Amino acid sequence: MGVVVKKVDLTWLDRTYLWPVAKGLFITLKHFLRQILTTTKKRQTVQYPEMKRPVSDGYRGLHELKRHEDNSIKCVACFMCAEACPARCITIDAEEFGDLNTLQGIAEKRPVLFQIDMLRCIFCGMCQEACPKDAIWLRKNYELSCKSRDEMQLGKFDLMNTYAEEDGSERVVPESMFKTSNNQLS
Ligand code: SF4
Ligand code: SF4
Repeated sequence: MGVVVKKVDLTWLDRTYLWPVAKGLFITLKHFLRQILTTTKKRQTVQYPEMKRPVSDGYRGLHELKRHEDNSIKCVACFMCAEACPARCITIDAEEFGDLNTLQGIAEKRPVLFQIDMLRCIFCGMCQEACPKDAIWLRKNYELSCKSRDEMQLGKFDLMNTYAEEDGSERVVPESMFKTSNNQLS
């Protein structure tokens, strides 16, 4: 059903267009003075990046691929997240993994490649919902920037390390898999 939009009759003052401009400037000036006279903590302006606005509990930010205590990846390359992803931005390549891992039992598969195209991701959280291993989380980081499109293709180790600094945990690098016995890291 259509909506009838009422025509607004402009007064002669409105027709000069000076009065509405003056009103707009007055509002801007009012907010400017309010900001100047308010203490920094109470100001509505966020002095980013020194200050950051807290995000809500349900906020879905940058992904993290979770690890076990021994830093081995939790993901078992089941492809559930890739199937659930509406943006089709997750690419997984699985490999056989038959070594006995004391924490995981016998894991049969793990991702040799796990990549998310962050340029296509819509942060819907479906991958997290679909994961049977609780291996992928969308956490609070919203600071995503890059200088090229390639930098937004996050790989397995990028995703395992996205919150390493914040959590104070060790960064997992590809080389470290060779330092670990039983080829448990990947
Ligand atoms: S958040 Fe949504 S769009 Fe992004 S990778 Fe997960 S399922 Fe795909
Ligand atoms: S992140 Fe979870 S859903 Fe995706 S492949 Fe790994 S285990 Fe499966």
